[in-house]
Amino acid sequence: MGLEIVCVERKGKKAGHRHVTVIGVDTTKVVIRFSVKTVRRIIKEGTVDFFYTGPDGLPVAVRRYKCPCGVKTIRAVRGRENDGELSQLPSCSSWSPSSVS
Ligand SMILES: [Zn+2]
Repeated sequence: MGLEIVCVERKGKKAGHRHVTVIGVDTTKVVIRFSVKTVRRIIKEGTVDFFYTGPDGLPVAVRRYKCPCGVKTIRAVRGRENDGELSQLPSCSSWSPSSVS
């Protein structure tokens, strides 16, 4: 069991090379945001896992990742981009819980 990531914020100078800087976790009422630094610390402590739900409906694990460019970040274990399929999640700035009309 873990926390489901529902949105991300990414930064990067090049369109093809961006890193996740913030993730959002859905609590059904609000989206709680964590910085990547905090997520990395939580994963390292091993108390909570993070995942997201892939297009096929299956949970995909998210791991600590050090990019060859030197950035310490996180990535999905699946996907071709440097942050994996996390790049396909909606932006946290535009995401709102589905329970809110
Ligand atoms: Zn990089």
